Amino acid sequence: MIHRFMIGLVTSAAIACSISPQAHAQAYPNKPITIIVPFAAGGPTDIVARVIAERFTSSLGERVIVENAPGAAGTTGMTRAARAPADGYTLLMGPMSTMSFSPTIYPNLPVHAIKSFDPVGIVASAPIVLVVQKGLPGTMKDFVAHVKANAGKMQNGNAGIGSTSHLACVLLNSRFGVKPAIVPYKGTAPAMQDMLTGQVHYLCDQSTSVMGQVKAGAVRALAVLAPEPSPALPGVPTIAKAGYPGAEMVVWNALFAPKGTPADIIKQLNAAIAKGVDDGASRERFASLGAEAPSADLRSPQALGKLHAADVEKWGKIIREAGVKIN
Ligand code: ASP
Repeated sequence: MIHRFMIGLVTSAAIACSISPQAHAQAYPNKPITIIVPFAAGGPTDIVARVIAERFTSSLGERVIVENAPGAAGTTGMTRAARAPADGYTLLMGPMSTMSFSPTIYPNLPVHAIKSFDPVGIVASAPIVLVVQKGLPGTMKDFVAHVKANAGKMQNGNAGIGSTSHLACVLLNSRFGVKPAIVPYKGTAPAMQDMLTGQVHYLCDQSTSVMGQVKAGAVRALAVLAPEPSPALPGVPTIAKAGYPGAEMVVWNALFAPKGTPADIIKQLNAAIAKGVDDGASRERFASLGAEAPSADLRSPQALGKLHAADVEKWGKIIREAGVKIN
């Protein structure tokens, strides 16, 4: 009996050893996948993650769970993702902010936005929009005059020191020549909540998460920080048209896997992103939020790796010049 049991063990071990890397790729995924969102639920990073998670669930045939792990402008969740096993079951929805600003703003982290990850693919990009309380002046000129006249009383919310919402408004504030109180949150969604109840006067947030409140008339969009106007926000000028050329900021959200994730899994996930963002329902959803799926030349993991490295350089320089620091 023992003898037969031993033979059984040896045989299954031999079969396990003979599984090829291809068979390994076919076997993935065989349990739920977690996408870590390093900002609060309801914000731009979260919204993009939930759109792609839904598509992944149907195309990969496994449940995909979105887990919010906010804190320190996304670096808390980024650290958690970097330390997860590199097996394709924990991924990071990396926003341009955390992935490109943290090497400069948080240089002492135990993990690194580039070195600790393998790029998988861009999911969507969306411009920053300057949104203000609905009772505030509706033109840029009058808004800036109001902020100047009320110096000391104005509160500018953001998603944490080192988020895109922070940096975009830091750069705008300096162009406006104003110094409001800077109020960091764990994402733009809670900052928006406080804007609706009156504590926050203005916010730089991606179109993805402001659209609902703008359309409902609960807040006012003053300018889109993009080279072109957003078809989803008719009538809202570009930041250049509103008087501040050079303040554009279009933000990508991309999937990253812990460094060392098998190449066949990255390939499978990258193909699932392409399928997901090309799906009619996601296209419509992104378009309604002023977001865009990546163009053909930006879809590969290599293209994301290149863009990411270039953005670490580009924004690092801007951050150093602007003197942005944690404290
Ligand atoms: N990722 C966004 C930012 O950097 C914030 C968010 O997703 O809530 O501002």
